[in-house]
Amino acid sequence: MIRIPFNVPPYIGKEDKYLKQAIDSRKICGDGEFTKRCNSKFEEITGSNKVLMTTSGTSALEMAALLADIKPGDEVIMPSYTFVSTANAFVLRGAVIVFVDIRPDTMNINEALIEDAITEKTKAIVPVHYGGIACEMDTIRTIAKKHNLLVIEDAAQGVMSFYKGKALGSIGDLGCYSFHETKNYSMGEGGAILINNEKNVERAEIIREKGTNRTKFFRGQVDKYTWVDVGSSYLQSELNCAYLYGQIEYPHIINNDRLKSWKLYYKLLKPLADEGKIELPYIPQECTHNAHMFYIKAKDLDERSKLISYLKDNGVGAVFHYIPLHTSPAGKQFGRFHGEDIYTTKESERLLRLPMYYGLKENDINYIVEKVYGFYR
Ligand SMILES: *Cc1c(COP(=O)(O)O)cnc(C)c1O
Repeated sequence: MIRIPFNVPPYIGKEDKYLKQAIDSRKICGDGEFTKRCNSKFEEITGSNKVLMTTSGTSALEMAALLADIKPGDEVIMPSYTFVSTANAFVLRGAVIVFVDIRPDTMNINEALIEDAITEKTKAIVPVHYGGIACEMDTIRTIAKKHNLLVIEDAAQGVMSFYKGKALGSIGDLGCYSFHETKNYSMGEGGAILINNEKNVERAEIIREKGTNRTKFFRGQVDKYTWVDVGSSYLQSELNCAYLYGQIEYPHIINNDRLKSWKLYYKLLKPLADEGKIELPYIPQECTHNAHMFYIKAKDLDERSKLISYLKDNGVGAVFHYIPLHTSPAGKQFGRFHGEDIYTTKESERLLRLPMYYGLKENDINYIVEKVYGFYR
C-alpha cells in the first residue's frame, strides 16, 4: 500500500559535506565557523540587526522573555491557538498570559481585538505567524507604539516569509525562528533569535552565554570573562549549524520545492472548495509565504476526525494540532481569555494538515487529493 508520511525532515544532500567539515575542524561546540555562517546568512535574508542561533525555537522565545525583562505579574498578549512554547517562555518569568481570539481566515491573532486586552500590566504582544503567513503587523506595531509595548514575533514557522517585503521575525523588537525537524529548514533541534534593536544585542549575547561576557572575550574586547547577568546555555552545537547551513546557503531550493507542492494542492482542491465542501488557506495580499503548511478545513470536528481516519486507512498521514491553550490545564492556571472565544476553538477543530515536506512528489499529491475527493463523494 502507498504510505505518505505527514512529515519528512529536510535533507537536500549538502548537509554531509558541511557536517564532515565541522567534525574535521575539531571544533564542535557553539559559535564556530558554521554558527557564524548561519548568523550572517540569516542577517542577509532578514535584514535584521543581529541573528543569534539557539538550541531551539523554545529557547529563542525564552531569551526574548528575558530580554523583554518580563517580571512576575506582567501580562503578555497572544493567541490561544499556538504551540505551548509561545506561552511557556513568558510563564517561566512569572507572566500572566492574556489570550485573544484569532481571525478565521488566517488563524492568526485578530489584531482588532488586541487593544481592548491591554491593561497597565501589559508588557508585550506576541503575534504568531501561523503557517508562515504574517499577522497584520502594521496594526500591531501601531498599537504597541501607542501603549509602549514590546512586539515579540513567534516566527517559528515563518523563515523565508515576508510581510510587505519585510522578513517575518525582523519586524517587531525581537523575533524567534525554529529549526525543528518539522520546520522548513532544520538542524534537528535548533532555533534563532532576531534582535532588531541594536540596544539589545550585547545583553542577548550575554544571556545566551550563561550570563557571561564570553562573546566579548572571544572578540578580544575584554581580557577575562565573568558572570555579568542572568542567562543560560542557549547556544547550539556546530554540528547542528553545519547541517542547517547545507540548507540555507541557497534557501530557494527548499522554498521553491515547497511552494510548488503548495500551489498544486491549492489548484487541485479549489473545485472542492468552490463546491463549499472544504475551505482552503487564505493568503492576504501583503504576505509572501513559505509554504510551511497546507491545511484544509472540514465542516466540523466530527467530519475532520472521519477524514483523518479515512486518509490514514489509505496510507496518508494527515494531522491536526493545537488544542487551544486557554482550554488546557496549564493555560487555565497561567492565563485568561480576554473577550469571547468565537473562532479559536471552532476553527481549530475543523483544521486538518496534509503532508507537506521538501521532496514531496507530485504523484503523491495527486493521490492525496484523490483520496480527499473520494471522502467527499
Ligand atoms: C515549532 C514552534 C515553536 C517551538 O520551536 P522548537 O524549535 O520546537 O522549540 C514555537 N512556536 C511555534 C508557533 C512553533 O511552530
